[in-house]
This record gives sequence, structure tokens and C-alpha cells, in this order.
Amino acid sequence: MVRHALALLLVVSLASAAHATVVLVDPGHGGEEHGAIGVLSGARKVMEKDLSLRLARKIQEKLRPHVTVFLTRSLDRTVTLQERADLADKVKADLFISVHFNSSTDQSAHGYETYYLNNSADAAVKKVEKKENLTLQGEELVVNQILIDLVIQQTVQSSRSLAQNVHRELGSHLRPSGLTNRGVKPGLFYVLALSKRPGLLLEAGFVSNPRELKAIQQDEFMERYARGVVSGVLAHLKTKKGL
Ligand SMILES: [Zn+2]
Repeated sequence: MVRHALALLLVVSLASAAHATVVLVDPGHGGEEHGAIGVLSGARKVMEKDLSLRLARKIQEKLRPHVTVFLTRSLDRTVTLQERADLADKVKADLFISVHFNSSTDQSAHGYETYYLNNSADAAVKKVEKKENLTLQGEELVVNQILIDLVIQQTVQSSRSLAQNVHRELGSHLRPSGLTNRGVKPGLFYVLALSKRPGLLLEAGFVSNPRELKAIQQDEFMERYARGVVSGVLAHLKTKKGL
């Protein structure tokens, strides 16, 4: 009887521990800051801020049955990187997931990649960092490198595990869509550093590639992508709790 009660207690506490997990999903850009711009046939413009909000909402909807989940913005409005990070503190987020789409001056660039916070010397990564680290005024935030290194030290292991789990699941969910897997990469993204917790930054495909843009702005792609992220987050949480 006692053993039964203990087992029950264990199940209840594990369930509540799983439920206590808070994930903050961050749709990149917004408001006056539109992010990358792509053009569909018929000269219809597609803005990164709209795609990132749509995808973040899908991720939220599919995460909701499993964890407590918030968005840094649910409307088309301007939010600074610091405000996004402050919200992570306010809701006591365990994980921070920033949602973006990529762009390049090379129209043939294509594929999806997953970043976690760490220093990187890769020139191609530096270009992505530069785009995503800009604020509304185009000024780079002054973030103390010592503080960034401290955050990296505290979060890199967990963030790398999260990124690997999510990217692996994205791989299997996106295979039918034919998108190229560009891998998991370290990158110095201020929004991740400022949030001071394990997290990742998703680059879910290139809006600058007309062929890829046509695919990634479709609901079917967003569904697949969101399902991949959720499977990966759950796999990460499972390994963390040793379940
Ligand atoms: Zn972006």
C-alpha cells in the first residue's frame, strides 16, 4: 500500500514537473522591423516578421498540451531584443525558442538551420548573426562579452542538446518537403544571450530564394516544421528528466 502510494506520488510529481516547464516562443522581428523580405510570383511581397509569427503560433498551439507556453508577441508589433529577454524572466521561461527565416544576396541559397548560443568564427554564421542582431534603428546592442561568455558557460550544454534534438526531429519531419538540411550551428545571437537561459534560434528556410519561399510560406510546411520542433523539445525534456 505504502509502495503503491509512493509510486503514485512519484507519477504525480513527475507529471507536475513536466507540466511546470515553461517555453517562451519568440517570433522574430515585428512591427516596424520587418526582417527579411521575399517576393512571390505576381510581385507579392512576403515579410519575415509575418512568417515567423505564423510559425511561432503553430509551435505554440502544438506545444500547449505538453508544457506552459508563451509568445513574446502575438501581434504585428515592434519588440526590442531586451524586451523579449525581459519577458523570459517575467514568465520564468525554462527554454527560449526564437523563430526566424533566412535571407541571402545569393538567390540560390536554401535550406534550414538551427542555432544555439556559442561563439563562432564561421564567416557565413557571422552574416546571419549580423542580420538577426540588428535592432529597429539598425544599431547593434552593446552587450558585454564577459556576460555573454558567462551565459554561454551556463547554457551551452543544455542549448546544444535542445538544438540537436530539435534539428534531428526537423530532419525527419521535413524530409517530404525536400528542404536542405544545413545542420546545427553555434552562433552569437544577442536575443539568446540576453535571455540568459537554454534556447535556440531557428532559421526555417530562405525567403530570398523564390522557389523555397513558395514552399515555406505554405501551411503544410509550417505544420511539418512546428511538429518537428515540438517533437524535438519533448525529446530534449525527456533526456533532461531521465524519463
Ligand atoms: Zn530574423
